[in-house]
Amino acid sequence: MKIYPIFIPHAGCPHRCLFCAQDRSTSQSVVPEVDEVDGWLENVLPLHGDGEIAFYGGTFSLLSLQQQDQYLSAAGRFVASGRVAGIRISTRPDALGDECIARLKASGVTTVEIGCQSFNNTVLASAGRGHTASDNISAIQRCLSTGFQVGVQTMPALPGSDTEEALVSLRQALKLKPSFVRIYPTLVIEGTELAALWKSGGYQPWTLDEAVDVCADMLFLCRQADIRVIRLGLQRDSELEKNLWAGPYHPAFGQLVRSRLWRRALFHASSHGKQLAVHPNDLSDVLGHCGENRDWLKKIKPEVRVIADKVVKRGFLRTSGRELPLTDLSAPGGHHG
Ligand code: SF4
Repeated sequence: MKIYPIFIPHAGCPHRCLFCAQDRSTSQSVVPEVDEVDGWLENVLPLHGDGEIAFYGGTFSLLSLQQQDQYLSAAGRFVASGRVAGIRISTRPDALGDECIARLKASGVTTVEIGCQSFNNTVLASAGRGHTASDNISAIQRCLSTGFQVGVQTMPALPGSDTEEALVSLRQALKLKPSFVRIYPTLVIEGTELAALWKSGGYQPWTLDEAVDVCADMLFLCRQADIRVIRLGLQRDSELEKNLWAGPYHPAFGQLVRSRLWRRALFHASSHGKQLAVHPNDLSDVLGHCGENRDWLKKIKPEVRVIADKVVKRGFLRTSGRELPLTDLSAPGGHHG
């Protein structure tokens, strides 16, 4: 689905969370006026479309009621004329009371993205979030039962977190059956409290390889639960790259993670056959960013070849006449080089 993002950095936020610098993570650092939003949408939206207008980067449901109403009315006009199908907001779990949920629903909001980050109360407290895991659970359940599409944002590697916490938190989220998930491994960005903590030696970010490995486990769990992951890692942005102090950032982070799952699949499948076939559209992820999986395979199993064959289903790998799904071949654990 096409998203038309309107960035409202920190608008509505009751305070700054330890890790967050929305105004330094993207090139849009100013909250737009309603008429600017209106003009931009007028220019970018097709005459008919099934996308969503999305308000990101702040706590939408804690804006003043008047401001929420103005933004939603502006967006609603484009929904009414068929130029988009819906409106999406992102907010905090403790800013979604029953009255607020009912108001958002009545104003035409179709998708709510909830910044849960973790389901561990100690981690949430260290990150200065100001809400608990039960706020996450309650907000997700009530938004789902109101009929919204619900997205859950998670942040592995917050202070006090480890691999186990990341996976336990994600499992908690998946049990609630959200519509989709976003996974943002924690980065250290200039101007945040986390940057000061890191500088004083009080926080150790994950390495890129660690983050890719844990996020591959997370992606595996989501696929197993049949829940879409719509984003892995922060979007590439020159402002973010300028202000990034430390942490597992990579402009192609999503591909690194998907390729890590394929690497696990190649490892298992290569013990059953010398020719591994995948769908052509999967080939780039299978071979890896800059061919890293291809080079790795050449080193550990030089006799094995990967070929593209459009007969193989997407997300499957054929070896010795059998087609196996990636989810069966890429379970966490084991050594894959
Ligand atoms: S993480 Fe969310 S609630 Fe916290 S400061 Fe950033 S935008 Fe606001």
